[in-house]
Amino acid sequence: MRNAIFLDAGRQKFKGNIHSHSVRSDGEYTVEQMIDAYRSKDYDFICLSDHEIYFHSDAYDTETFILLDGYEMACEMERETTGQQYHMHGLLDRSLQAEKPFHHDEEHAKPDYESLDTIQQLIDEMRSKGNLVIMNHPEWSKNREEDLLKLEGYAAIEIYNHQSEIQEAVGYGVSYWDYVLKRGKQVNAIAADDAHGGPTDMAVSEFYGGWITVDSERLEQQAIIEAIKAGQYYSSNGPKIYDLRIESNRLRVVCSPVRSIRFITFPNNGLAEMDPTGVYITGAEYIIQDDEQYVRVECVDAWGKVAWSNPIYPKYELQLQEGL
Ligand SMILES: [Zn+2]
Ligand SMILES: [Zn+2]
Repeated sequence: MRNAIFLDAGRQKFKGNIHSHSVRSDGEYTVEQMIDAYRSKDYDFICLSDHEIYFHSDAYDTETFILLDGYEMACEMERETTGQQYHMHGLLDRSLQAEKPFHHDEEHAKPDYESLDTIQQLIDEMRSKGNLVIMNHPEWSKNREEDLLKLEGYAAIEIYNHQSEIQEAVGYGVSYWDYVLKRGKQVNAIAADDAHGGPTDMAVSEFYGGWITVDSERLEQQAIIEAIKAGQYYSSNGPKIYDLRIESNRLRVVCSPVRSIRFITFPNNGLAEMDPTGVYITGAEYIIQDDEQYVRVECVDAWGKVAWSNPIYPKYELQLQEGL
């Protein structure tokens, strides 16, 4: 008998896009226009992750909308010569108590890429400056799975990047995520817009296509960061996950109406739940076998849009329960 709550229908949920650009780098809209755009669609927070220039300010935060501090960092390298690029997100985590965090509008100079060590050093430097690090759009960047496995110190992989998907069909990074999860690395996922500009009100737009929804007691920068670190959120480009918990060895999910609910596990096979008549379903359960290296849930709607849970590690949960 064991129980654990990962997402709680009874907790407050805050929706946010942590990857977007403004005129501070190569975006089209001002800070105020970006805030207005997301506020108007009932988002609770965004991060203006402009390229190599840090956002560190509480000046725009209100009781109903906040900006997470952070930026997007890259290495000086061209896909034409190295075959890949690296873009990484830094989100300010005040609990790291960095001695010298980046100040507002501070630029971080791109290092020249020499080897994978350059990337590791960059991750280490970002962390020493108080950042939670996320590996952005690995498919767009043409990163190598084995390199993401070797790199240490990042918290999540951006598995859905909306702008890359609608423009270049390289927005999904789920295969990279499963590659490292299967090999024992415990990292979460992020879905985000990476909006730079263009119309915000068209059926297909760089806005409102990928987001995270966070379980948090309050809308405040560090509270959201702590919830992200704890994996208390899901990523989505469509459906919603309301609740995810283990009750009596059953992993139960409750979600918005979807066509299928997929429990993805390793090394054993998982479970796909669908109604054979095609009726939408709003929940499913999976019996934990205890030999899973991880279990994660995908709720997939009729248009192929997905809500992704973060991974659950049953053996680790069992150890917690037994106080090992
Ligand atoms: Zn990028
Ligand atoms: Zn970006």
